[in-house]
Amino acid sequence: MFLYNTLTNRKEELQKSRKPIKLFVCGPTVYDYSHIGHGRTYIAFDTFVRYARSQGYKISYLQNITDVDDKIIKRAAEKGVSALSLARTFTRAHFDDMKKLGVISVTKYAPATKFIPQIVKQVETLVARGYAYKISDGYYFDISKFKEYGKLSKRTVLQAEDAISRVDENAEKRNKGDFCLWKFYKPGEPSWNTRLGKGRPGWHIEDTAISEHFYGPQYDIHGGGIDLKFPHHEAEIAQQEAASGKKPFVRIWMHTGFLLINNEKMSKSLGNFLTIRDFLKKHSALILRYLVLLHHYRSPFNYTETTIEQAENGLQNLRLTLERLRFIEHSSKAKKSFEIKEFITAADRDFYRAMDDDFNTPEAVAALFKLITPLQNKLWLLSGAQAKELSRFLLKKLELLGIAFITSPAPLKARTLLKQREKLRGNQQFIQADGLRKKLSALGFTVEDTPLGPFLWRTNQI
Ligand code: AMP
Repeated sequence: MFLYNTLTNRKEELQKSRKPIKLFVCGPTVYDYSHIGHGRTYIAFDTFVRYARSQGYKISYLQNITDVDDKIIKRAAEKGVSALSLARTFTRAHFDDMKKLGVISVTKYAPATKFIPQIVKQVETLVARGYAYKISDGYYFDISKFKEYGKLSKRTVLQAEDAISRVDENAEKRNKGDFCLWKFYKPGEPSWNTRLGKGRPGWHIEDTAISEHFYGPQYDIHGGGIDLKFPHHEAEIAQQEAASGKKPFVRIWMHTGFLLINNEKMSKSLGNFLTIRDFLKKHSALILRYLVLLHHYRSPFNYTETTIEQAENGLQNLRLTLERLRFIEHSSKAKKSFEIKEFITAADRDFYRAMDDDFNTPEAVAALFKLITPLQNKLWLLSGAQAKELSRFLLKKLELLGIAFITSPAPLKARTLLKQREKLRGNQQFIQADGLRKKLSALGFTVEDTPLGPFLWRTNQI
């Protein structure tokens, strides 16, 4: 499997080994409900891990939770609640949302507040090695001391100084782009009494303290949204490589593109977001997963009603094909009229080729449609065994993408209506038969008259 490495700007091979591949993905800052932009990033990594594991890669998947941070403190003050309790509430909500989205591959979640001793130790190491210094409001990382600062984002230190989003301000700093490692206590803020003094961690240090604790100073893959490349991931490289003297800190950097709304990043701070909860009030989790997979993980895409509709139609199409195949599989009239083996073999090859080429899920999905679209009008000409083979193939591939349809048999009432309709049709009572078709439709079922007999399917079920 090859992955695009943002550090080298090349696709690089992910080697299998007996030891697990160590993956770390930045978790959310928990001051509000997670939105579908977060959903995009976490679904993409979840699917990547599921797929890689299914192909024999052992993967340990670690994710932090930023549960102490300026944004959390600000929101808590606005709401008149404690910052830590606000963070707890939204951590729980995030886990709940991830469960609903079927994000099941994370091995370990690590909230920053549970790793204060590790954070303090890493800051002390940076001070001892001459990379960190103390001023009136905390400890800072001196970016001019780390000669390779900017190697991930391809910025010089000077350029880095221009982009100071989420890099802390203080006139006493040695360089404008220096970022805070430890913030001294201010009234009303959560704090810990430590050897560094009473205070709380800066944003970037939690990730390297956590990853060093679980993985040591070097590991295989680091992931997150593209917004984190600078300064967050740049700061992580500086911290860990400065602290350990070993490089590279991480071998492969994977960055997801944004989920956009009107061409702007969906984000909590811009307020243009749709929470996962609100999305799930209208649509199923499967639709969001499928929508995410219809786009390459590195490409940005706009969330619109049209894209949702397209995703819905695609899924409906897949589900209907599977239901038709099941019907054929159980029909005694089904007979083989043409061969499909070579088409399945080609789709199989295209599917894996796409997935192994930088996890190209849209191409992989396209391989499935390339197989089923030309067959749609000829499905009834397949034998039961062929239908079974095709259906198994599709189910397996969809499982690899984390897509499982929940199907339930039609209720007795619908099956009885269908039998009565058949009887009426047999007696040439077509007007009455059509009345029963309408009744079935009101129950949410569509009847399709096929060469193998009437096929009943649930009209809207995803
Ligand atoms: P945050 O809570 O803002 O720190 O974000 C947590 C993770 O979600 C990071 O990896 C972000 O890059 C990612 N993320 C946030 N917003 C979006 C978005 N609109 N599209 C894709 N990923 C996002």
